[in-house]
Amino acid sequence: MVAGASLIPFRGTAQSAMAALEPSYYPPAQNGLRGSHPGSYEHAHGRARSGQTDWGPGTDLNELYDLIVVGGGISGLAAARFYQQKHGADKKVIILDNHDDFGGHAKRNEHTVDGVLRLGEGGSESFENPHEFSETVLGLLGDIGVDMDRFKTSYDADFFKRHGLGAVTYFNRRTFGEDKVVRHPFCDYPGFVEGLMRPTLSFEEAVKQTPLTEKGKVQLLRVLNSGQHDLNLPKEELRKYIRSHSYFDFLKNTLGVDDPGVLTMARHTSVDYTGGGTDALNMSAALTSGALGSDPLVAWKDALGEGAYQKYVNKDGGTYAVEHPFTYHFPDGNATVARSLVKKMIPDVGPGANAEEIILSRFNYDELDKPDNRVRLRLSSTVVNVAHDGDPQSASEVSVNYIHKNKSYRVKGKSVVMACYNMMIPHIVTDLPGEQDAALRRLTKIPLQYSTVGLKNWRAMKELGIGMAMSPGNMHQAVGMDFPVSMGGYEFTKTPDDPCILHMRCAPRGDVDDVPRVEQFRNTREKMLNLTFDDYEAEIREHLGGMFPKLLFEFDRDVESITVNRWAHGYSYGNPGPVGRQPFGRITIANSDAVSSSLMNRAVEQAHRAVQELT
Ligand SMILES: Cc1cc2nc3c(=O)[nH]c(=O)nc-3n(C[C@H](O)[C@H](O)[C@H](O)COP(=O)(O)OP(=O)(O)OC[C@H]3O[C@@H](n4cnc5c(N)ncnc54)[C@H](O)[C@@H]3O)c2cc1C
Repeated sequence: MVAGASLIPFRGTAQSAMAALEPSYYPPAQNGLRGSHPGSYEHAHGRARSGQTDWGPGTDLNELYDLIVVGGGISGLAAARFYQQKHGADKKVIILDNHDDFGGHAKRNEHTVDGVLRLGEGGSESFENPHEFSETVLGLLGDIGVDMDRFKTSYDADFFKRHGLGAVTYFNRRTFGEDKVVRHPFCDYPGFVEGLMRPTLSFEEAVKQTPLTEKGKVQLLRVLNSGQHDLNLPKEELRKYIRSHSYFDFLKNTLGVDDPGVLTMARHTSVDYTGGGTDALNMSAALTSGALGSDPLVAWKDALGEGAYQKYVNKDGGTYAVEHPFTYHFPDGNATVARSLVKKMIPDVGPGANAEEIILSRFNYDELDKPDNRVRLRLSSTVVNVAHDGDPQSASEVSVNYIHKNKSYRVKGKSVVMACYNMMIPHIVTDLPGEQDAALRRLTKIPLQYSTVGLKNWRAMKELGIGMAMSPGNMHQAVGMDFPVSMGGYEFTKTPDDPCILHMRCAPRGDVDDVPRVEQFRNTREKMLNLTFDDYEAEIREHLGGMFPKLLFEFDRDVESITVNRWAHGYSYGNPGPVGRQPFGRITIANSDAVSSSLMNRAVEQAHRAVQELT
């Protein structure tokens, strides 16, 4: 690539080649294929997969920055802010990102239904375990105007109970021969949010209502009543056993399950926590992620040990609740963190003095890359080469080459933070030391998909008592109401006659079985990116049409808009270790990938480390 890059002839120009954006340019309101949207990944794939180095004659923009950040997710944005805090707000910084919107996984989805704005999250949802946030993270959140106490009152924990909405299972006709909703989830999915109602049916009563065969019902009941007693092992051996044995092997060979319906239910219950089917997991991972038959608190307590994911019944009655609830959520998820960072560094982007006040603020994207900005944010710009101008140990500048609208551009920086997917770095910084290159090449990402649907009303949900429906056999394995949060003048849906957003979660699955998980991820990614919007719409039409009663729901009448957020590169997988994330000359490495984490707070901490490491 170093040789290839030098083949790109760069013309010099003093003018910015970026055209002004139309006032109508407002990506959060776009529906259709989002996340890894068409146009966002082709150049990176050309570089990483086909070794492409030639994008035609390039333009040297003659722009020199104190800092260039590659990747405009929370980590990249936080790196820019930490740099300002350390070196002064007069420093010139540019952030380059390949998407048409900033935020990385933390994207905002807007649906306007019958004139009413509904907000949702396209990816990164909530603060997880905020009681464990470091001073660095809390300091940054304070700096950008996030009031941590506000979450205690903005989440309407009584919403689900007030409307009788619980965790249920939708059995679809295609897989189970009949469309049926049973008011029992048969699993303990960690995505059951605070306040969602627990089932009141016993296992026996619920199993009777399923459309499984008689044999399937017997087997399902056996799985639900299973526990560590089925293995009959002493405590220490039990712990080792569940870490080294496949969950599916336990179902099939210890419990004797062979009914395809029960196995489909079991496969789909881990959804997004592990990013794949439970058939590829050991027992410990499957049970911790709430798989069918898991009741960590009771049946598997000794085997999983303290600290395993635990749900307990709210003493006030019948709702899901955990010790540290998953309620630190903005109406557009962690997109508010990304937007607050942008607002802090580019104040003219829109009104609002703190995180809460910007929730209803429509940002003017034309402000992001103004030549006079101290911090510029350049979208739809895929970085394909980063190289020191000379020896990495003594060079004073780094050249960064990116592709925008199929044209090649070059900017220069005194320092560079790589806050992009870490596995992409060896394809962009091609002269890394061998060990570091190898450590980064071992990484991959788990594909995930969140679809949001703008619904004109949710009478059908109310009628069936659906707060969240586990949906084995459908593309989206869990479908439900969004987090009931009202904040900053934004009001969550109030009555079943009002518009709402439906949140549909999917850990997609490719066509290959019995191969390592990384190969499953690769295969899944291909499949996901090859589907068209029509394919996704057809699936959602069949899913909602089959699940809701015909008298209360008609797809063409009641669905206003669909946004499919495909994350071909979602959660981190693999750890680069200290060697993989070490500095290289004037280049340092951020992103939550750097510590193999899929958490917003880790993305911030890694940004902080990367900025401190800059020479
Ligand atoms: C569906 C989903 C749900 C999640 N939910 C939660 C949650 O509830 N709570 C939580 O804490 N975390 C959650 N996460 C984890 C999420 O990854 C982190 O919260 C955080 O957003 C990561 O930020 P980041 O900046 O490290 O990475 P990213 O958000 O991935 O940002 C990296 C950016 O770099 C860009 N980039 C890559 N290559 C290039 C290139 N060559 N040139 C230019 N740009 C490039 C990427 O496209 C991306 O925009 C979720 C993730 C997903 C996918």
